[in-house]
Amino acid sequence: IRRMACSRFEYVKSFEQDDSILPNVWIVIRVDGKKFHKFSKTHDFEKPNDENALNVMNAAATAVMQEFRDIVLAYGQSDEYSFVFRKETTAFKRRSAKLLTYVTSLFSSSYVMQWPRWKSVPLAYAPCFDGRVVLYPSDENLRDYLSWRQADVHVNNLYNTAFWKLVLGKGLSNQQAEERLRGTFSADKNELLFQEFGINYNTLPAMYRKGTILLRKRVVDRKGRQAIVPLHEDLISSQFWKNHTEILGK
Ligand code: ATP
Ligand code: ATP
Ligand code: MG
Ligand code: MG
Ligand code: MG
Ligand code: MG
Ligand code: MG
Repeated sequence: IRRMACSRFEYVKSFEQDDSILPNVWIVIRVDGKKFHKFSKTHDFEKPNDENALNVMNAAATAVMQEFRDIVLAYGQSDEYSFVFRKETTAFKRRSAKLLTYVTSLFSSSYVMQWPRWKSVPLAYAPCFDGRVVLYPSDENLRDYLSWRQADVHVNNLYNTAFWKLVLGKGLSNQQAEERLRGTFSADKNELLFQEFGINYNTLPAMYRKGTILLRKRVVDRKGRQAIVPLHEDLISSQFWKNHTEILGK
């Protein structure tokens, strides 16, 4: 029985604001872990890349894509994930707060549920994630957005790989490693890794260098079901978009 619905108090409902997103734009929702610098320390993440921590992120994002079928692509790296809704989505009448809060809270709760599958150390406290909605009017803007996030992984991972090699491999203090890398270009860091540690950066695991792209692909079985497939490819080059034409629908 919905007594409140007819009460004299009901007028307060009209204070709520319409936040429906304009039609025909790409809707991107990005979530990012709160203070994961600290969270990763508390939970003994391997540096620079804890593979299982990334697996938790990927599993949580997969759960979000399973629930929200209008997400055509997700892209994750470090403690962040971006979800791209198809332009025509009418999910939750395109209401911005509904989309943002459902995605962010489902991601957070899924992260907690997935944690024990991948990590042996128990959660010391409840992790949380911020979220934002960003709209991109053109396909080019969307591609540039994703390229921006992937370029970010590259810059950070190259730096972190060199940094932790100097600290863990050469016994430098954090400050000494920082000084050693200050002002260096990508080529210098590649060279340092190769000369001093015999590491060819390009042969390190692709998930660390490229992040994770989640796409829906048809599974080859009788029912033609969909699966959510993780890829660790370069999405900056146009080849990626030629290989996966279903994303932009062309
Ligand atoms: P929506 O996704 O639109 O919010 P909903 O099913 O969650 O749909 P609500 O109007 O939020 O609809 O109502 C929540 C419902 O959850 C209640 O109608 C009731 O059936 C159930 N519910 C929530 N808390 C309890 C509780 N403590 N005990 C029993 N039932 C509960
Ligand atoms: P904020 O609350 O502002 O987001 P933050 O500490 O989460 O602060 P970010 O810029 O989001 O800052 O960086 C996330 C940090 O989490 C990274 O710098 C890294 O230290 C750590 N981190 C996240 N994922 C991993 C991982 N898989 N392996 C190792 N460290 C990780
Ligand atoms: Mg309710
Ligand atoms: Mg941040
Ligand atoms: Mg963060
Ligand atoms: Mg981050
Ligand atoms: Mg409800």
